[in-house]
Amino acid sequence: MKVTVFGTGYVGLVQGAVLADAGHHVLCVDVDADKVAGLQAGRMPIHEPGLEALVHRTQQLGRLDFTTDAAEGVRRSPVIFLAVGTPPDEDGSADLQYVLAVARTIATHMDGPRTVINKSTVPVGTADKVAQVLRQVLAERGADHVFDVVSNPEFLKEGAAVADCQRPDRIIVGTDSPRAEAQLRELYAPFNRNHDKIVVMDVKSAELTKYAANAMLATKISFMNEIANIAERMGADIEAVRRGIGSDPRIGYHFIYPGVGYGGSCFPKDVKALIHTAQEAGFEPTLLDAVEARNRAQREVLFSKISAHYAARGGSLAGKTVAVWGLAFKPNTDDMREAPSRNLLQALWQAGATVQAHDPVAMAEARRIFGERPDLRLVDSPMAALQGADCLAIVTEWQSFRVPDFDELAQALTDRIVFDGRNLYDPAVVARHGLTYVSIGRPVRG
Ligand code: NAD
Repeated sequence: MKVTVFGTGYVGLVQGAVLADAGHHVLCVDVDADKVAGLQAGRMPIHEPGLEALVHRTQQLGRLDFTTDAAEGVRRSPVIFLAVGTPPDEDGSADLQYVLAVARTIATHMDGPRTVINKSTVPVGTADKVAQVLRQVLAERGADHVFDVVSNPEFLKEGAAVADCQRPDRIIVGTDSPRAEAQLRELYAPFNRNHDKIVVMDVKSAELTKYAANAMLATKISFMNEIANIAERMGADIEAVRRGIGSDPRIGYHFIYPGVGYGGSCFPKDVKALIHTAQEAGFEPTLLDAVEARNRAQREVLFSKISAHYAARGGSLAGKTVAVWGLAFKPNTDDMREAPSRNLLQALWQAGATVQAHDPVAMAEARRIFGERPDLRLVDSPMAALQGADCLAIVTEWQSFRVPDFDELAQALTDRIVFDGRNLYDPAVVARHGLTYVSIGRPVRG
């Protein structure tokens, strides 16, 4: 099938490449001319495992193209994906300006029937708004083309986006149009061979399904962080509690890791947007309010522990050098949107500390965000971050941080202390190497 994808971010680019790999002919449209020029030359704007090879292969096969020409994108394909950003507005609601701008573009240039498939995460009722824009612009043109607006939310995980798109757990299709449903079934047939993963429902339920999924995951994280805070004050070990409750199949082991709070471009904004939607509908979502409040507080926990440690010894963080491992909001991505590392760095700088940080892939992104500043040194390896540092703070659970040389750590860190926001290590092992180990929801060791 001929497919056009508007937006070449994490969702649009990965979806476009995966559809092209399955045999479809995909044209990706973006307003960012530098990004498009880079992609045309085979340069990836983001880090996603497997993405570069997939894009190069499908480009060479002539099944994946990139353009800034929106009119060409609209005219070329009967099926058009919306995968543009929906950032939070000041009041927490989802900003639909990019989605609605693409809707206007489509209506301006469409010259026959079109199926508009919305992959962006959008509040309930957005498909109706998109349809309204299409109708209005078509009427202004005096054109009368048939269209359907389908909700097809995306569930990929950054860091595993290609694999998730290639092997989705479910494909949610929100439509009441048999024509659109048949088109999506044909489009997704290559991903639907093992068993039927397509779940067809009405548009509003599909739109809400995406928010419900993210809100549930965010709730699990905030719940676990809440219990970690209780465990810490009781002298209990949250990791033991985690294993204890995870073994109950009704609870399960997934997504119950305590830490420094959730971040990234989805959970924070989607929880806020759902709260806003609920309030607009006259309902106060007290559980979601609490999820959000716990997360806001949790993102400050690592800094609180560091600062409390020095304060308890009559000192302060002024003049200290803190090694930081991990800047991305989670492993296997360079995405630092709403990353907890940003809270930590800002707080450390405010307290007068210098940061010496390493992340396996997010260094360029960190340079872009923070620019040159005297209190930030971005270094090439985890061990280089330790040189001349007083203590270590771990923010992202990259695999490469999991088995460090603790003796080298103990030698390098002047104050011989590790603040671990991800509970990567066995406290007894760290303490045995002469280090003090402060983690989340567990007693301090050493
Ligand atoms: P992104 O910010 O990485 O990419 C959005 C892209 O859209 C940018 O390249 C931007 O230049 C482009 N764009 C903006 N206006 C445009 C226009 N008029 N025409 C063409 N391109 C335009 O965003 P993302 O992370 O890919 O997310 C996209 C949507 O998918 C959001 O609604 C998000 O909530 C949702 N989502 C994201 C993820 C994720 O993990 N990132 C997962 C599921 C769903």
